Formats: sequence, C-alpha cells, structure tokens
Amino acid sequence: MSANRRDFIKFVVAGAVSAGCPVDLALLAQNAHSSSPILDSEENRICHQVRDGKVFSRPPASAKHDVVIVGGGVSGLSAAYRLQSRDVLLLEKEPHWGGNAYVMEYDGSTYATGAAFLEGESEAFRFAKEIGLDPLPVKDADGTIGNGQFVADTWGEGINKLPYPPIARDSFKRFRKDMIAIDLDQRRNELFNVPFSTFMNNYAPEVKQWWDTFGPSNWGATTEDTAAAIGIGSLQGMVTESRNDVRYTWPGGLGAITKKLAEILQPKLGDRMQTGATTIAVVPGKDDVQVTYMQGGELKTVTAKAVIMATPKFITRRIVEGIPAKQSAAMEQIRYAPYCVVNLIFDKPVFNKGYDTWCPGNTFTDFIVADWVIRKKSGYKQKHNILSCYTPLKEAQRVDLLTDDGARKIAADVLRDFQKLTPETNVDPVEVHIYRRGHPMYMSTPGLYTQVQPLVRQPMDRVFFANTDCEGPVSGTSEAIKAGRRAVKQVEARLAGTPAKETVAQD
Ligand SMILES: Cc1cc2nc3c(=O)[nH]c(=O)nc-3n(C[C@H](O)[C@H](O)[C@H](O)COP(=O)(O)OP(=O)(O)OC[C@H]3O[C@@H](n4cnc5c(N)ncnc54)[C@H](O)[C@@H]3O)c2cc1C
Repeated sequence: MSANRRDFIKFVVAGAVSAGCPVDLALLAQNAHSSSPILDSEENRICHQVRDGKVFSRPPASAKHDVVIVGGGVSGLSAAYRLQSRDVLLLEKEPHWGGNAYVMEYDGSTYATGAAFLEGESEAFRFAKEIGLDPLPVKDADGTIGNGQFVADTWGEGINKLPYPPIARDSFKRFRKDMIAIDLDQRRNELFNVPFSTFMNNYAPEVKQWWDTFGPSNWGATTEDTAAAIGIGSLQGMVTESRNDVRYTWPGGLGAITKKLAEILQPKLGDRMQTGATTIAVVPGKDDVQVTYMQGGELKTVTAKAVIMATPKFITRRIVEGIPAKQSAAMEQIRYAPYCVVNLIFDKPVFNKGYDTWCPGNTFTDFIVADWVIRKKSGYKQKHNILSCYTPLKEAQRVDLLTDDGARKIAADVLRDFQKLTPETNVDPVEVHIYRRGHPMYMSTPGLYTQVQPLVRQPMDRVFFANTDCEGPVSGTSEAIKAGRRAVKQVEARLAGTPAKETVAQD
C-alpha cells in the first residue's frame, strides 16, 4: 500500500469515527468505495473508572429479582435461557448482546467480529440445535499462505507442498509424527503444566513460527505461554480434521447463537434485559445480594436471591465484594490477550480458496471467508467477499488500542499485509472495519486449566461464576455455555435451599 493511501485512511477515519461511538453513516456513505477503516470497540469507560478506584454511591434498592445475571455474552445469555421460568434480570454493559460472539452486517452480508466456528457434538453444537439453529459444516481443512503460495490442508496432504524449503517441510512432517505419538491422556498432568515451546527445540524455526501464529489466534498465546497439552491436542485434532472436518459455523460465525438467544429471550424478559447497563458493585448480604449498575448516567440498585457473574474475571474480581483472597488472587493470575478483528469488505470475489487460511509472519494470523458455508448453496450469489482477519496482539501492544490512530494503523497494516500476500488480487476493499477488544481472550498458559480455573469457579454463598474463563482449557463458546449451565445448576440448588458448595462436586 502506498504511503499516500495510508494517509488517506487516517484522514477519512479521523473525521468519521471516535472510539466506541457508532459509525457515522453519513460520512460512510460519502466515503463509499474508499478503503476507510471503520472503528468499533467495547465500551469500557465505567469499567475503567471502577478499575481506577472511583467510589460510586450506591442508591437504595428499587427492585427485587430471583436472579441477576451480569454479562450478556453467550455464557450469560445461555444461563438466562435456562432460567426463563424465574424472575431474571440480565445486565450487559455494551449497547448490544453477544460479547465475543457477536456478528455484524454490511449491506445485508454478515461478518464476524469474534468467535468463528464450533465443533460437532460439542456443548455449543448441541445448544445451538436446542435453540433451533442448524449448524452448517465447514468441510475444509485449514490452508497456509507463505512466499506467495496458497497450500490447502496444512497438516494433511498439504504438508508435502508447504511453501518452505525442503528441510523445513521435512521438519513439519517429523513434528507431526512426533506429536501424534504422544499419549495425551496418560501425560495429561505433566503436559498441562509445561510450555508448548519446550517441544519446539528440535525442529526448523518455521514450525515454531507457524504455531506462534496459530496459538495467539486460537488461545491467545505463543508457544512460550501455551500449555503443551493444548498445542499437541490441537495438532492431533487437525490431523483428524484433514480427513474428517468436524467444524460447523454460520455466515459471520458464532454470533449467530447470541443473536438467536437475544431474539428468543427479548419477548419473554422484556425490560428485564438491559443493555448499556454496566454493573459496578455486587455486594452479598445474608439474605440477598445487592447489585448496583450504571445506565444512561444513572445509578440503580436491585436485590437478588442469587447472582451469576458471566463477566471475565479481571472485571468480576473488582466488582464482587468479599471474594476470598486466594480465589481473587487466582482470578488476577489469568492473563488476557488484546485482540482485533479486521474485516476487509470487497465488492467482488477476491479470495474463496479456503475457509480459514494461516498467514505466518504477518500482522494478522489467519483470515476466514465470512460466507464460506453458504457460498455454494443454490441460488446464493456472493455480493460481498468479506474476509475476517484475526489479529491477536501481544499484551504489551494493548496500549495501541487505546487510541483511534493506534487501531487505524493496525487496520492499515492488516490491509497492507493481505495485499502483499495475495498480489494477484490487486483490488481494494470497499471498506475496512476494525473491531478492537482489550481483553477478550484468556491465554491458555501452563497451569491455568489444572490449578487456576478450578479455584476461580468456586461458588460463594449467593454469587456464582460463569464465563468461559472459569472453564477451559481454551477460551471457547462451548466452555462459556458449559460455565453458564453449571452456574444455573448451582443457583437452582441454592434457591432450593442446598448449600452451594455441595453442588460443585457433582460437576
Ligand atoms: C477473536 C476471537 C475469536 C474467537 N473464535 C472462537 C471460535 O472460533 N470458536 C469458539 O468456540 N470460541 C471462539 N472465541 C472465544 C469465544 O468467543 C468466547 O469464549 C465466548 O464468546 C465467551 O463468552 P462469555 O459469555 O463467556 O464471555 P464474553 O463474551 O466476554 O461476555 C461477557 C459479557 O459481559 C459484559 N460485561 C463485562 N463487564 C460488565 C459489567 N461490569 N457489567 C455488565 N456487563 C459486563 C461484556 O460486555 C460481555 O458482553 C473467540 C474469541 C475471540 C475474541
């Protein structure tokens, strides 16, 4: 991309969007057919004030509920779905539902801003069916682009054609053979507690580079910060996938699940489903829990017999009073990767060779064709070829997301790298959208799954913990739904008079 064009991107966006604000449609229309990155973000203003120690006054309670659920991602929404017969209040800080499984639309074409796919027979797969969705098969093992060449089925047939020198290709094959030979069940405890990087020493650097691309996209961490069991398990899964891909999705990914949940729940819960409502304090008492939240500049307090915290733990530990010190310290130990998704929107076909393509050594790790699972349906015409470029960052780069310029530079770098990788396409997108999030994906570090997460999810008397980050071993929609299901079970037991702790052993 020429320097001039990058300047143009900066200029257009600076006038059009400020962080966290909705897109200015008038300016968008003016700039149609330019490569202007459109910014979308989480709303963290109030959470940052809580983090920085601001003391909010807590008004007296104005309403009573059976259960308050804090957090309207897939974990909180699925918990609300299971508690429909109760008087439930669901609070979400963003102006929309979905959290990290959130789908957006461009001129009728949907695209993902987060979660992409699920696996057949997983918790998320079964749950999607339960709520009336039909998951569509991906049926395409992941490819890799390197040195100007696309190779399909990286860890299957493609391994013989990888875009690397023969010595590196042999190293990939040896790595695959060695990792397949590892008995994960037998060495489970050891392998969840050592870094994956310790398995990289005897192979070509390209092997490590590939995994340092794959890991951050899937579980937020490079090989040094990844529990070995997760990397090895993934490779074993991909080898099987090359023969029988078990992945499913919808156009725009797993936001389809949260969208559907919101559609089901809204008519039933009505004004007991609140967006733009940031919870700032959860204070357990003997007979109930007080929940204070900020909405439209106003503070409100409600009481509940039980509360489900479906928020990530770096937020949860700051707003729930009385979390035991050891549990709070465990919550603090979880590390989260900053992560952007940059959507390149083309008005003509640019890339339709594979569903998920890995791009080691670039600003982004991989990109997904948004409408992959419907593009061959009879009667479907691809109006826009939207490519969702997954762009996880290092923790030290989180600061780059704090400014619009920082986010715009990331979007411009993604576009530059995409065009460098696919010079044959030689076409500009009509729009570039970037969705930035500061802490969306917990890092599957050594020891997290076996030592930290079991402690983190311990219930308090009337406060229960959901969200994917108490489940593991990786941040996933299935894990989020599972965490919600467990919390609902604990709530039901508590409301029936059983002490919360007894329900844990059954899970
Ligand atoms: C880029 C990316 C790609 C991914 N790809 C996949 C994939 O392919 N497959 C897969 O299974 N998973 C994937 N994941 C993981 C998956 O998206 C998450 O595990 C899942 O969406 C987490 O859901 P959750 O409800 O547990 O948490 P979240 O989605 O984090 O939801 C928590 C909600 O709580 C809200 N909240 C926070 N603080 C407050 C407060 N104080 N008051 C009120 N509300 C609050 C947040 O706004 C948010 O909506 C991906 C994640 C990312 C970021």
